[in-house]
Amino acid sequence: MTTRSATAPSFDLLHAAIIGRVLRWRWGRLLFQIPLLFLALLIIYDGLTGPQLAPENMATVSAWIHYRGLVMLALLLVGNLFCMGCPFTLPRTLARRISGRGRRWPRALRNKWLAIALLFLIFFLYEWLDLWASPWLTAWVAIAYFAAAFALEALFAESPFCKYLCPLGSFNFVASTISPFQITVRSRDACRICESKDCIRGGENALGCGLELYAPQVRSNFDCTFCLDCARACPHDNVALAARPPLRELMRDAWPHRWDVAFLALVWVAASLSNAFGMVPPVYALEASLLTWLPFLNKALVLLLIFAVLNLAAPAALGLAASWLSRSLVRSSEPLRRVFARYAPAFVPLGFGVWFAHYGFHFATGALTIVPALQNFLIDHGIFLLGDRPNWALGPILPYSWLLPLQMAFTLIGLLATLLVLGERNRQIVSSSSRHSILALLPWAALAIALAFAAIYLFTLPMEMRGTMSMGH
Ligand code: SF4
Ligand code: SF4
Repeated sequence: MTTRSATAPSFDLLHAAIIGRVLRWRWGRLLFQIPLLFLALLIIYDGLTGPQLAPENMATVSAWIHYRGLVMLALLLVGNLFCMGCPFTLPRTLARRISGRGRRWPRALRNKWLAIALLFLIFFLYEWLDLWASPWLTAWVAIAYFAAAFALEALFAESPFCKYLCPLGSFNFVASTISPFQITVRSRDACRICESKDCIRGGENALGCGLELYAPQVRSNFDCTFCLDCARACPHDNVALAARPPLRELMRDAWPHRWDVAFLALVWVAASLSNAFGMVPPVYALEASLLTWLPFLNKALVLLLIFAVLNLAAPAALGLAASWLSRSLVRSSEPLRRVFARYAPAFVPLGFGVWFAHYGFHFATGALTIVPALQNFLIDHGIFLLGDRPNWALGPILPYSWLLPLQMAFTLIGLLATLLVLGERNRQIVSSSSRHSILALLPWAALAIALAFAAIYLFTLPMEMRGTMSMGH
């Protein structure tokens, strides 16, 4: 046991009564993983064998309405709880036994470019194949996840699936950078004299950090799955899950100054808008026009083109233009990469607000759909616990008239937080270099305001109520 030093966090969830013991317990993660494993198996089973109408099937309702709504809430209130309870990593111990020490993930791929590509791919497949409407395909997505996580864990020594590939993980890594809890240590002195470094290397009965994060150096939630393996491995009980102000990580410039990391953040923000755009009438008009102008393309390629422009080309072009303008306005010769990497992460709160507004819309309009879907599942299997007739009228948990004001409020709160982070990041560079001024901020602030109002405009358009009995309205 370590004594609290000057670096000790003021509130540490791992040392809170009861919950702290549960989290640090050797099998603590399993308590979160087993319910999610059952849910994943239910998604696969009902998706492959159940009714193929989205609102009637547990696969589509739980994956596309509940998972997405609840994951945003968990990220906002605690942190990356989905990765903590991720069922896809459950076969990890078996996979590690197969792999032995395994080989290292190729150096050329130790970055976020593949993660960006796969995040883009899943957003595209979601729209192209209407995954939200297909229980069968949703089940296959879950199967593919289990297979990919197991295969990569078996082939490589670290956890490359979580760190470099998983689209759900990449989404959560970016979003969790505004979460109110983060891994740190209670005493840096204890780490200084610690010889075993079990938190990263692993000990006799515990795995070390599969993501190869070293607890005393963790400054960010980026790449942290909240698995708490480090806490269970540390022989000095020195790892903390510390409370922090939600914007502190972004204000402190805690990310590496890399193109791939900063670009992932901007792609994530752009996808929050393009995902909503994929569900409103103008996208159908745009698709029809493109099919007329470019008759050699089919519908899938047109959608791919729209998504590539909105999710990849637009954030790259806008981010580079803002970086160049920002640099030119203060006549700085700083490398473009540094400017890009300084300001791009500040857009995370805005992206969070838009994702929250979008996924919150689906959750608010369809949360209770789970009741008749579950009733239906049980009745199909001869169980009448919840009655013998599903009530398909169940669905919304909020009046429809509340939704637009709430969506606007979430977006504007996100915008305000982004402007605050931009201001703070700029203030730090102004105070450290006389060559910078407030002017450097202007292109980025203008971009944030434009994106926020584009999101609000999208929310004012009629949006498909996917996965509920009101679909298509
Ligand atoms: S195992 Fe890691 S967290 Fe624990 S004392 Fe050693 S260096 Fe610090
Ligand atoms: S630092 Fe590593 S071991 Fe600790 S919770 Fe994060 S991912 Fe898990």
